[in-house]
Amino acid sequence: MVGIKQFVMNKSCDILICGGGISGLLATAFFGISGYKVICVDPSLNDEASTTKNLDLRSTALLQQSIELMQKFNIWNDLIPYATPLYTMRIIDAGGENESPRAKRDFNSSEISGLPFGWNISNSVLKEELIKKIYTLSNVQLCFGVNSTKIVTRTSEAKVWLSNGETVKAKLLIGADGKNSFVRKSLGIKSSSSNFKQSALAFIVNHPVSHQNISTEIHMSGGPFTLVPLNDNNGQHRSAVVWMEKTIRAKNLIDLNKDAFQDEVNKRSCGVLGNLTINSKTSLWPIVSQLSETFYSERTVLIAEAAHSSPPIGAQGLNMGMSDISTLLSLVEKNGLDSESAISEYSRLRRLKVNLRMKGIDALNLTSMAKMQWFKDLRSKSLGLIHDITPLRDQLMKYGMNAL
Ligand SMILES: Cc1cc2nc3c(=O)[nH]c(=O)nc-3n(C[C@H](O)[C@H](O)[C@H](O)COP(=O)(O)OP(=O)(O)OC[C@H]3O[C@@H](n4cnc5c(N)ncnc54)[C@H](O)[C@@H]3O)c2cc1C
Repeated sequence: MVGIKQFVMNKSCDILICGGGISGLLATAFFGISGYKVICVDPSLNDEASTTKNLDLRSTALLQQSIELMQKFNIWNDLIPYATPLYTMRIIDAGGENESPRAKRDFNSSEISGLPFGWNISNSVLKEELIKKIYTLSNVQLCFGVNSTKIVTRTSEAKVWLSNGETVKAKLLIGADGKNSFVRKSLGIKSSSSNFKQSALAFIVNHPVSHQNISTEIHMSGGPFTLVPLNDNNGQHRSAVVWMEKTIRAKNLIDLNKDAFQDEVNKRSCGVLGNLTINSKTSLWPIVSQLSETFYSERTVLIAEAAHSSPPIGAQGLNMGMSDISTLLSLVEKNGLDSESAISEYSRLRRLKVNLRMKGIDALNLTSMAKMQWFKDLRSKSLGLIHDITPLRDQLMKYGMNAL
């Protein structure tokens, strides 16, 4: 990215956002566009969001509700050229003895709406475009290479010490600093977690068969193997892969040489898009389900993975983070930035909804991890049943399409 310069930090602002991952950048953009004076700090970002250092190989399927939010803030139009619409969710069960597809069901968005379920976009492009947008806002400062080191809150403000020696006073502090949130830990907010001893491998593949805007999830055991459509590149069909496995197996897989790994990938994909060629590095993401006991403390809120993190199933993670931001924004706009009841209400509303959704995701994950044959057989039959009962199918599609 050319022409991006580092801002000099102010000493006070309306909102300080700790964390410039996608959710922190989205919060920065949305609150900035809404007119608040915002500072966002992050140690890992630098001037070039797309340099190798920052390259995030994952992509994010943004659900319709998230798209609407981006449209509201005039961000979506710049992202459309990089995004791929997802019209069908195909679920394949290959959990039989010979591990070939034995049940296949398509869930088509056209059955419930004229719109796609969502759009898939590369994380690094999304970050880069958000940073470009934020740089157009004169009331917003992005502080790269800087992290928060100490936090003290009072009834009227939060004061945060930064690694560059500066301090920032803010009426509201937003912790968007991810799973191991410094903000959460500093304020003594506890979180509960389940470790599935599972990891996700993320990489990009080329394939000879067009994905036809179908996102395909294949279940055997260990976790789902999902192919999510990307835009063609130089005439090559491409998809992003998220392959969830028990961590021991995932680590063995990532240690294989390229050809051996590609063979395993092709076995696991059951040939649904023809012979896959790996076209990127592979990254490994440990999977935990983690929920903070509250999303709120004096003059502080937690959003996205700082507040909740779940297995990457059904494209819920960042979409739930977007709903956090949207809920927070509307409560603050209605009640004012100083209102303590607005931010405690944010916590109450969001934690309730996120908790319910996380229970569903964890249950789906356990189903997908199943090793016992009788359980895998039951899973295969249930897929048929759920799909073939129209009202149930429609209800599930509507539920999946919205991240609450
Ligand atoms: C393989 C995979 C696929 C996924 N696919 C999807 C999908 O399709 N759809 C979906 O909705 N979700 C998806 N998710 C989930 C989604 O990627 C996450 O929810 C999202 O990236 C979390 O973003 P975040 O900004 O909350 O956290 P992070 O990306 O972890 O960002 C936190 C930021 O905080 C910064 N930070 C840390 N400490 C400090 C500090 N002390 N001070 C300041 N800053 C600090 C870090 O440098 C970092 O940049 C997927 C996840 C995985 C693992």
